Amino acid sequence: MTKSDTPSPRPFQHPLPGSALCCGSVSLEALAKRYGTPLYVYSADQILERLSLFQQALQPRDHLVCYAVKANSALAILKLLAERGAGFDIVSGGELERVLAAAPEAAGRVVYSGVGKTAEEIDRALTAEILEFNVESEAELALLAARAARLKRKARFALRVNPDVFAETHPYISTGLREHKFGIDIRQAPRIYKSAAGSRWLQAHGVSVHLGSQIRSANPFGVAIERVNKLVRQLRKDGIVIESIDAGGGLGIDYHAGVFDAAAKVREYAAAIQDALAGFEGRLLIEPGRFLVAQAGALVARVLQVKRSGKKTFVITDAAMNDMIRPALYQAHHEIVPVKPRAGKPRVVDVVGPVCETGDFFARDRKLAPVEPGDLVALLDAGAYGMAQSSNYNSRLRAAEVLVEGAKARLIRRRETMADLLATEIL
Ligand SMILES: *Cc1c(COP(=O)(O)O)cnc(C)c1O
Repeated sequence: MTKSDTPSPRPFQHPLPGSALCCGSVSLEALAKRYGTPLYVYSADQILERLSLFQQALQPRDHLVCYAVKANSALAILKLLAERGAGFDIVSGGELERVLAAAPEAAGRVVYSGVGKTAEEIDRALTAEILEFNVESEAELALLAARAARLKRKARFALRVNPDVFAETHPYISTGLREHKFGIDIRQAPRIYKSAAGSRWLQAHGVSVHLGSQIRSANPFGVAIERVNKLVRQLRKDGIVIESIDAGGGLGIDYHAGVFDAAAKVREYAAAIQDALAGFEGRLLIEPGRFLVAQAGALVARVLQVKRSGKKTFVITDAAMNDMIRPALYQAHHEIVPVKPRAGKPRVVDVVGPVCETGDFFARDRKLAPVEPGDLVALLDAGAYGMAQSSNYNSRLRAAEVLVEGAKARLIRRRETMADLLATEIL
């Protein structure tokens, strides 16, 4: 096996049996002591390793990896990725502002997706001279043309087409079917591109698709891109030359324990897309979110109580659904491990937070190594859609975030204070 074939270990490991769980060489126990809990901890090394997996696999052709900011929008992570050449997929004016703050030089590598862009958001993106607007309806295209005319700036656009491909995933994160709110029916696309060709302020730059999220098989990506490539050939016959194909994001990870061969997954994904792109000479964009950051992150929480009630045992942590909503929202599975293992037999428990909702759980009927009040536990694979979906529900303060780079850890977001909590309100 060559080095690149070796499945890289997950970044959160016990260096020795019985020692504290570490991110790289940094102890989570030490980080929790220094920065408090709940605490998000991310491995910069793993994020960059994942980025380079995509960059290497797509090497044979002109490509740009546009990180989907919504997965984890921490400025420090955006900066890290931008420095390695990544572009960004954004879905709001707020996300554009984040990219401009973290990496202003990357503005020209931004694609802007989303079904409901406002005139103000479009203006800001036009002024920032982003790479491409991924347009999701004819009405949006008309709005884009109007704003571009006002600002006298040409708008590069891609139609986000809906290829009618079913990607087996959770219904809330599946987007590629005609019945979903996203995109434009691929059969309507030629007509719309032709009508846009008459507009002085619109430039047909690309075609984009996005099938959904947490898609585990490469097959749907190949099928969708084949349909897009066919559309591009058809457009060329009509005299419309498409420079880029955006394959969207959605490549899934394994949230269960065990070895996950990320390199093999990326190779399989890239091969499916490359095959489907046969004959296309332009640039390939992809928009991975989860795959880049999910496994690089853990949510560290402290056990507040261990409560027995009837036949059940509840491990109550100081992290809750407001910090990480995936289990409640998608019935998502996250591995949970004690930071410092104790001797003793595992117990079947529910791991829950203090929020007043029955849905506030991280795991149900889970076999967990023994823990006591005061112990730390880590919720793994929490780097994507964790902090990004957090809220102040129950008037809880949002967690702090730490980025581990090599042997060094630094705070990239301080914990919210009570003053932050009240800051925007008017009595
Ligand atoms: C959410 C989203 C992504 C990223 O999806 P992942 O599953 O995190 O890779 C990419 N593109 C668009 C348009 C999205 O909405």
